[in-house]
Amino acid sequence: MDFNNTQIAYSYKTKKELKSALFVYQIITKPFMVSLGKFFLKVALLLHIPIKPFTNFMFKQFCGGENLDEVLKISNNLSKNNVKSIPDYSIEGVSDESAFNNLISEVKKVIDIAAENNNIPFAVFKPTGLIDAEYLKQTTPDNHPEVLAFSKRMDKIFSYASKKTVRVLIDAEDYMFQQRIDDILLQFMKQYNKETVIVFTTLQMYRTDRLDYLEFLIEMAKRENFKLGIKFVRGAYMEKERNRAAEGNYPDPIYPNKADTDAAYDEAIKISVENIEFVEIFNCTHNEDSVSNLIHLMKEHNLAKNDKRIWTSQLYGMRDNISFNLAKEGYNVAKYLPYGPVKHVMPYLVRRAEENSSMSSQAGKEIEMLKEEINKRKL
Ligand SMILES: Cc1cc2nc3c(=O)[nH]c(=O)nc-3n(C[C@H](O)[C@H](O)[C@H](O)COP(=O)(O)OP(=O)(O)OC[C@H]3O[C@@H](n4cnc5c(N)ncnc54)[C@H](O)[C@@H]3O)c2cc1C
Repeated sequence: MDFNNTQIAYSYKTKKELKSALFVYQIITKPFMVSLGKFFLKVALLLHIPIKPFTNFMFKQFCGGENLDEVLKISNNLSKNNVKSIPDYSIEGVSDESAFNNLISEVKKVIDIAAENNNIPFAVFKPTGLIDAEYLKQTTPDNHPEVLAFSKRMDKIFSYASKKTVRVLIDAEDYMFQQRIDDILLQFMKQYNKETVIVFTTLQMYRTDRLDYLEFLIEMAKRENFKLGIKFVRGAYMEKERNRAAEGNYPDPIYPNKADTDAAYDEAIKISVENIEFVEIFNCTHNEDSVSNLIHLMKEHNLAKNDKRIWTSQLYGMRDNISFNLAKEGYNVAKYLPYGPVKHVMPYLVRRAEENSSMSSQAGKEIEMLKEEINKRKL
């Protein structure tokens, strides 16, 4: 599979948009600029200076808009190239009842749209958008009113999605919250994933215990006759987790090196393809080898390119070369399309900037490909 065709990768972008994307990547690959930007952002937020004019270029690169109407315009554009969208209401750091209700109502709106619109195949949310994260720690008992309320909030989303037969992805976050989320989501998978899969849990394959957990889940699904929806990621919080483990004096939950994480990721996808009758796969990665591995396994198991149980996903504004070339070949591809008021999606944007400044090889490739396409269009 050739992921280097820039004409296909950027066919949905105008020349102006390509130049703007190049500008963004050139800025965020300079750690100094990212640190400076973060500092100014903090000051601006403290002094209530409007940040939109200064952050608009980043926002446009990595977000679908401030509301669902704006997201749908982008989604329609992506769909012309058979790339689907997953609107992701990306407000972070607010945890009160009105914020929880706001998230539930926003996810329900996405579910309504997804039920009617083939270009939106999934809804998604972050568990910490539905509870004050402090209560997710293991020190809080399972029957604590806040934990029970969290479960009920999730059920509002799942029962609604189930009625409309729309699949819902649930992101994974910090290690210290995940055990409780795993336990709750397992119950919901048993409840809702009978005929079709509605609930998708997320496995972070940088964790040393995830292959065993996957095997455990598959055994249980076979025994108790339900299906698994699993979103696979490598994991986004490595440094934070390593520091926390060192400070808290407990074993680092993450593989000691990248090669081990890569091997676990590949193995998890292999196990899942082998058990495809029980596992629907949502393969979230910007790693070309991981995508090629999945394609290879699908061929080996005679699975159609557009088998509805297998999806690959990248973030909006990143690795279009993977998304668009895969979609062109007929595979199921969806972009995470974050949206929300500019001020509230800032933590998401800062993460994208930091990730790209620390992963220079991926961002470097992005810059090379953007330059190549801009030059081609000049000719
Ligand atoms: C659509 C989408 C949804 C996502 N949702 C989530 C989510 O819900 N939760 C979440 O945590 N992340 C999520 N991520 C981010 C993801 O976990 C990765 O951080 C990111 O995609 C980079 O990994 P990669 O597979 O693309 O590629 P690569 O660049 O090949 O891998 C980088 C990753 O490898 C791992 N790694 C790097 N160095 C080491 C090391 N020394 N030792 C061990 N492991 C190492 C880390 O996980 C790092 O992020 C999502 C990503 C995408 C594309």
